[in-house]
Amino acid sequence: MSFLLMVFLALVCLFDAYPAPPGLATPGGSAAWTAGAVLLIAAHALFVSRLFTRRLARSPGRRERALARYERGRLVHQIVLFGLFLVALVVLGWGWAVRQFWRLDGHPLPGTEVLTLVPFLAGQILTWVFFYDADRAAHGEGRGHRHEARLACAAVEPASSTQGANAAALSADTWLLTPDAWLPPPRFGSRTGYVLFQVRQKLALVLIPIALLIAAKEVFRLFPSAWEEWGTVINCVGIAVLASVFVCMPLIIRAALGLRPLPAGPLRDRLVATADRLGFRCTDILLWGTRGGMANAMVIGLVPWLRYVVFTDRLIEEFTPEEVEAVLGHEVGHIRHQHMLYYLVFLTLSMMVLGTLADDYLLPVLGRVGAAVAEAWPVLPASLGKQVGPNGDLAVFPMLTVLLCYIFLAFGFLSRRCERQADVFGCRAGSCGEPNCLGHGREAALTPGGRGLCPTGIRTFIRALEKVADVNGISRDRPGFLQSWQHSTIGRRVAFLQSVLVDARIEAAFQRRLRRTKWVLMGGLLLLLTGLLVLHGVRW
Ligand SMILES: [Zn+2]
Ligand SMILES: [Zn+2]
Repeated sequence: MSFLLMVFLALVCLFDAYPAPPGLATPGGSAAWTAGAVLLIAAHALFVSRLFTRRLARSPGRRERALARYERGRLVHQIVLFGLFLVALVVLGWGWAVRQFWRLDGHPLPGTEVLTLVPFLAGQILTWVFFYDADRAAHGEGRGHRHEARLACAAVEPASSTQGANAAALSADTWLLTPDAWLPPPRFGSRTGYVLFQVRQKLALVLIPIALLIAAKEVFRLFPSAWEEWGTVINCVGIAVLASVFVCMPLIIRAALGLRPLPAGPLRDRLVATADRLGFRCTDILLWGTRGGMANAMVIGLVPWLRYVVFTDRLIEEFTPEEVEAVLGHEVGHIRHQHMLYYLVFLTLSMMVLGTLADDYLLPVLGRVGAAVAEAWPVLPASLGKQVGPNGDLAVFPMLTVLLCYIFLAFGFLSRRCERQADVFGCRAGSCGEPNCLGHGREAALTPGGRGLCPTGIRTFIRALEKVADVNGISRDRPGFLQSWQHSTIGRRVAFLQSVLVDARIEAAFQRRLRRTKWVLMGGLLLLLTGLLVLHGVRW
């Protein structure tokens, strides 16, 4: 989700020629209508949230079904949020209004882009204010008791089980956030805390690149003639800055999300040993304090000397050490199979191909269609053909549509397969060399480098996956499109691993197929790009 949001907001910021609203052509009028649109977004969020909490209260036994409906409601809400923001920008004239009142001597003032984004940010924050009730209900009241009982047990006998030791190792650090060290942390916290957490979790990562983009735009606005005089220098500096931002991203994310090193203890020792065994290098293992809001993990950093593995507090608290190790294996799998690098090259090549295709074929056709439509309906501006054609003011919208569809379809297709590959590596992380093993004793020899794949490793990973759905309140089989376009559903991921349990050859066949798919995709893109460049060359 955050990836699509980033592309969307970047395009909104890059675009400048927002049209004036038809009919109500005062900036104040536009602002008033835009405020109305934001209230409509908030009202829809309230409706979705209320519907779910009522349904759950009425028939608590049909939780899965209610959750699936809630996820669908959230998807519709995302569309409402994006749609109404676009309507406010283009039809109600918010984009135009900002550029009317936020200017001095005919020049736009710094912060124009930030103001342009305000209705979206306001709508998003109000959404979280109302979704708080539904998300709290989705996490369920019954879970709190189990949690309390286990923590009490850990307090009495911290070393009696590995899980208890786990919690004890964390106690000094995580629970410091709460007033009493041995009271369970607030299951869901206050509404303000929830909204602030969502802003930090969902928006911080998206807004970092957007802030960089806006900064670059401001620099060009301050020195309009710099580009002609210093074009090459600016290009070189720009590329150097971009590369260093990419490399330093782990540091930026660490600061933005307030990540701290995982406290010393048995769990940390175990994870470090596992990383060693898998031949995986990282700078540190970090803990993400989400006030128990979410069980998740990620790996950040393209280069091994500045790379973090991150676990949320809830994951460390609810998962057994074996399961945390399996999750680490999944993250290591992404690095081992070079997924980030592949995504980067794949997306860069795709953008080049799509950009050339749109410039050469899509926009000229749209320009002609636009001109014909404007001729047929005189209500439309006569310049419509020019505006949606090449270099037209509105050309960004068809480009945006094509780009988003492509990312959903092509990148989603690729990403779901890579996630499955990482899942398999997660199984290997906890596997011994015995393909028919019946369980691992205390000192089972797990294979180095993730070369083994045994039933115990697979079962541990399946347990971890099921827990991700359970703890996060995600529907296992019908989580909604926005939850699953990138990762597939937990149900399908588990089903694949279970089929591998039955027949190990399925895994080998999957790896072969994926390798072939990756080569075909990359080769196809390179071929297309070469073809397009040759065609361009002929025309020049
Ligand atoms: Zn993953
Ligand atoms: Zn085994």
